[in-house]
Amino acid sequence: MDGARTPATCPVLILLGPPGAGKGTQARMLEERFGYVQLSTGDLLRAAVAAGTEAGQAADAVMKSGGLVSDDIVIAILRDRLAQPDCTGGVILDGFPRTTVQAEALDAMLQETGQRINAAISLEVDDAAMVHRIAGRYTCGNCGEGYHDRFKRPTVEGVCDKCGGTEMKRRADDTVEAVSTRLEAYHAQTAPLITYYAGQDVLERVGAMGSIDEIATTLGNVVKAAAAR
Ligand code: AMP
Repeated sequence: MDGARTPATCPVLILLGPPGAGKGTQARMLEERFGYVQLSTGDLLRAAVAAGTEAGQAADAVMKSGGLVSDDIVIAILRDRLAQPDCTGGVILDGFPRTTVQAEALDAMLQETGQRINAAISLEVDDAAMVHRIAGRYTCGNCGEGYHDRFKRPTVEGVCDKCGGTEMKRRADDTVEAVSTRLEAYHAQTAPLITYYAGQDVLERVGAMGSIDEIATTLGNVVKAAAAR
């Protein structure tokens, strides 16, 4: 990470893709490799739900059903997080924006600080495979590292490779019903952002049906090129 960066020059990267495409997994790997901060509105909302804040209480039922939380709530949460000092080295937006209203709000936020989007990276996958990917996934309750029953098991069963934590969690919205609602929400409200960012000339498409490491290698190259622009 370049400590001399100012907000105006810090890279802003967006990961687009349906639930299960690997946005969270890849964002965490990019965070480690490049020192950028992963900003996941899903994580921020889950933290708000756990803390019982007003926003969390409003979001809870919508999230469990697989629908999208209101733009106002999500934009306010993202705006607060983006203003934190650790974001000045570069950010990877994971799960935001998810609607055109959010994309326009992000453009306005970045304009205020003289920042711009370096790349909006669409992780391209087959929907049919997403249900399987999501059904087997879980995370370490301590550090958030992601695992999967089939694709990525910890070296010692039940023990996190990263932090040694032993409390693994599965998400409340990783049920078959909620996943199909989430896929519908993606196609109806988020997929149009692919055209939106193509229009801004920042769209990159990355095939994301391979292994986690293969995708990370391709994505790393795309991010490196985009951050230098
Ligand atoms: P994720 O962790 O990104 O899969 O998000 C989990 C859930 O949080 C989604 O299904 C939505 O209910 C909610 N959520 C996360 N990010 C957003 C967003 N940008 N806009 C609206 N709802 C969101």
